[in-house]
Amino acid sequence: MGKMRKVLSVASESVPLIKTGGLADVVGALPGALAGQGWEMRVMIPAYRGVLKSLKAAKEVWQSADLFGAPARLMQGKVGALVVLALDAPHLFDRTGGPYSDNAGDYADNGERFAALSYVAAEVARIGVGGWKPEIVHVHDWQTGLVPWYLRGSDIPSVITIHNIAFQGRFAREKLGALGLTQADFQRDGVEFWGDISTLKAGLMAADAITTVSPRYADELMRPEFGMGLEGVLQMRARDLHGILNGIDTETWNPETDPHISPFSAKKIADKGNNRRVLQEEFNLDVKGPLAILISRLTDQKGIDLIAPAIEPFLMAGGGLAVLGSGDRWAEAAMLELAARYPGQVGVKIGYDEVLSHRMFAGGDAVLVPSRFEPCGLTQLYGLRYGCLPIVAAVGGLADTVVGATPATMAAKAATGVVFHPVDALALQQGLLKLVSLYEDRAQWRAMVVRAMKADWGWAQSASRYAALYDTLTSNAD
Ligand code: ADP
Repeated sequence: MGKMRKVLSVASESVPLIKTGGLADVVGALPGALAGQGWEMRVMIPAYRGVLKSLKAAKEVWQSADLFGAPARLMQGKVGALVVLALDAPHLFDRTGGPYSDNAGDYADNGERFAALSYVAAEVARIGVGGWKPEIVHVHDWQTGLVPWYLRGSDIPSVITIHNIAFQGRFAREKLGALGLTQADFQRDGVEFWGDISTLKAGLMAADAITTVSPRYADELMRPEFGMGLEGVLQMRARDLHGILNGIDTETWNPETDPHISPFSAKKIADKGNNRRVLQEEFNLDVKGPLAILISRLTDQKGIDLIAPAIEPFLMAGGGLAVLGSGDRWAEAAMLELAARYPGQVGVKIGYDEVLSHRMFAGGDAVLVPSRFEPCGLTQLYGLRYGCLPIVAAVGGLADTVVGATPATMAAKAATGVVFHPVDALALQQGLLKLVSLYEDRAQWRAMVVRAMKADWGWAQSASRYAALYDTLTSNAD
């Protein structure tokens, strides 16, 4: 085996240690995927409460008497095959709430907390720790946007990945000093953003390359409808902007071996029927036509408000809907109202339940994803793999991964779902009716299900694209 190259990944979350969203899945999956490409990736995250307990053979590899106001150290340990560098800074990260907020809202010192993480990451990149010095640094989202900025002028290349541009790390300019920045950094070609500081913009300005999690989202980000004020920056950096799809964990999400369901395969899709029966019972449903599922954060981004005004004709035609999600109060209320209005046809569970989500993909005929924007999206990929055909808005990663049924794609035996456009209630309503008519032609439906299940959404292809990008950037630096 040849010598492994070295890359440091820096993020605010990573499975299996801490997760609030898809970011953690990606950060936790990349090291395994890149190992096969000749790159050893270590992952640096904050030591939130409980994180150190999960690290095996942890040892101190760096320390400071004063990191943003108090002592801190970097603990290196393993979780499974993953090598983790956990920043142990109790004054910043040892808290009872989540990574970013508690019941009282966002932590007031989020700027300082993630500036500290970024500062230490830049230090690790420069000097190396534990006998290991990375050749390149890969950071994720606003929390680590200051890493490339702090590394300006060094010979260490950096990549920043945008997982969701809605979160920009905006802080008042009064925080400049507290974030280790000066007036000189506060420029239009620097960290300044509409009179504030944006740590995401800092990363976008300073990184050698920018990636986002689907090719379509990369294009969308350069347009005002999607760029959320950063479209100008991304247009300027268009040459260095790449769209690389997220993969899924094909072991956890394998309908043939999934311990949470009654297993089935593309060869024996009739067995999927058992799962549908279980699911209907669990949600008190009695549905004759296609059973759609929705598993989502219940927020404006996810287009939850479009469902109630769109769904009636679908239900009249025999369809049903099972919802699992939590989020904004208005959206939870809208879903509960729908269930009350259509007993036996719409069932709703408010909450977050990973195991139930497996049973839903296994039992559902279709997964509904009406997002207004979707950087990559994972639920449509799980749906494809479990023969639960996606019905999605034509945006971002949804458009890149689902082939919508049209006369042409049906004739070409390529269709794997329903894609609707524009993202409004009328188009969604028509999409849902299209789903019913596709479902009614049983032979055709089965063919679509089998095709969807056979597609490969593992990490191999994307990992090789990241590896190629690291190769290019490190050879430029020589
Ligand atoms: P986002 O990261 O914007 O929330 P993604 O589709 O990229 O959207 O990832 C969401 C992930 O969270 C998926 O793995 C999805 O199955 C899961 N998920 C979302 N809501 C729930 C829930 N209420 N219960 C279980 N899993 C959920």
